[in-house]
Amino acid sequence: MECIVCGKETEEEKKYCKYHGEAHSKLYETYERWREARPISWKEYLDEVYERDETGKWVREIIDHIMQ
Ligand SMILES: [Zn+2]
Repeated sequence: MECIVCGKETEEEKKYCKYHGEAHSKLYETYERWREARPISWKEYLDEVYERDETGKWVREIIDHIMQ
């Protein structure tokens, strides 16, 4: 399989390469935490994360892909 974000070869049948896989899991885990603190939609969350300076390249690329 190829990573659906960057096209790199992935391990086994995974949708994402190592880097995007990690970024994707982290993005979902963080959303769960945010949602416990306050009501926020998935879309609002993605917008906020994207705007943050500390958001890394891999996470941004995942968000770009999700927002398409
Ligand atoms: Zn990738």
